[in-house]
Amino acid sequence: LLEIKNLSKSFGDLEVLRDVNISINKGEVVVIIGPSGSGKSTMLRCLNLLEQPTGGEITYQDEDIMKLGKKVTEYRKHVGMVFQRFNLFTLKTVLENVMYAPMKLNKVHKNEAMNQAMELLKKVGLENKKDVFPSSLSGGQQQRVAIARALAMSPDILLFDEPTSALDPELVGDVLEVMKQLAKEGMTMVVVTHEMGFAKEVADRVIFMDGGYVVEEDTPNNIFTSPRNERTRAFLSRIL
Ligand code: ATP
Ligand code: MG
Repeated sequence: LLEIKNLSKSFGDLEVLRDVNISINKGEVVVIIGPSGSGKSTMLRCLNLLEQPTGGEITYQDEDIMKLGKKVTEYRKHVGMVFQRFNLFTLKTVLENVMYAPMKLNKVHKNEAMNQAMELLKKVGLENKKDVFPSSLSGGQQQRVAIARALAMSPDILLFDEPTSALDPELVGDVLEVMKQLAKEGMTMVVVTHEMGFAKEVADRVIFMDGGYVVEEDTPNNIFTSPRNERTRAFLSRIL
């Protein structure tokens, strides 16, 4: 579905991504782990062109996304993103947050957008919060609204950048539960996370990044029980 070839990204003299190669197949859950500053967020941001890569190629359904020109807006609709800090519209209600993009970008009629938004809020367990403002929700609830909002565009891929790291520990479970459910339904997901339990249970593949490189890539079982690379081993021994 998505092929990342020899991707590089620099900010001035700072090389943040170097020769990154990753392919993401339809229906796969790929978890990316690695130390702070290793380039995980930058990688995700390149995937939906929030950052412009400095080299390499990203192809989506065999089309080079760096050469899409005006079709880039169309491409972005297929790639949803959920951030660490939910980034909800604070002046819109929960329901309006979820309805907004389909109405604005896809010209979906209001009633239809509302019905769909209600379905999605049900899915993330928040239909009873539809009329409140995000500020009155817990972090975990806000993140579930953010997931519903991303789903409203019916994306082909969802990118998650540390979706639970800003949450109080007791709120993490509900968000992971929603993500597990999505994985079960066959959603293609790329997830940057420090939740190793989630990675073990849900990931098809785990990618370890360090210093802008993909250092190791394997099944969760192999990565966690017998990492081949010294740096992977050192990282895991620090966090597990
Ligand atoms: P963390 O686990 O802390 O979120 P990360 O693996 O997501 O880290 P990135 O956020 O991708 O790492 O950052 C990689 C490097 O790129 C860091 O050294 C960071 O300072 C640098 N960087 C990221 N964004 C920019 C930017 N817009 N301008 C300059 N440097 C940047
Ligand atoms: Mg990051």
